[in-house]
Amino acid sequence: MRKTFEIPLDIPDVTIENVETDRNRDLVITVKSTVEGTYCHTCGKKITKVYGYDREITLRHLSILGRKTYIRLRPVRYQCPSCDGNPTTTQQLSWYTPRSSYTKPYEELGCLNRPSAVDRFLDFSSQSRFSHVWWPSIFNHTRGLLRHQRRPILVFTTH
Ligand SMILES: [Zn+2]
Repeated sequence: MRKTFEIPLDIPDVTIENVETDRNRDLVITVKSTVEGTYCHTCGKKITKVYGYDREITLRHLSILGRKTYIRLRPVRYQCPSCDGNPTTTQQLSWYTPRSSYTKPYEELGCLNRPSAVDRFLDFSSQSRFSHVWWPSIFNHTRGLLRHQRRPILVFTTH
């Protein structure tokens, strides 16, 4: 019998660009920031002029369906028009620490060294495959669409 699973990705402020399974059957989720701008590391002003992208980072995230899961992101770099020399600052998102190899949810649960705490959905893994991403919306019956949820849901199916 075919079953469907919906798994929220505990990561705000991103849109999912791609979900793939790598050669080790690990899940690799490529995301893009939906936050615009950052704060100049020299003067502290909000800056929104995109200068480019940093090298891609890959962060271990909580396992999904028993599979190791990685989040991949190219951080955006912004340039300050006010400071001398127009220094650049890389945008930092709330769900990881600079130079960490892990997302914060993984650091919080993964460091307990209890696999069961990390694997929230045990173990449909050999059967399941990624289907699609959806963004739940919140509706009010008089006012219509209120807002889109900021956190995407990954949908998996088994056969
Ligand atoms: Zn500045």
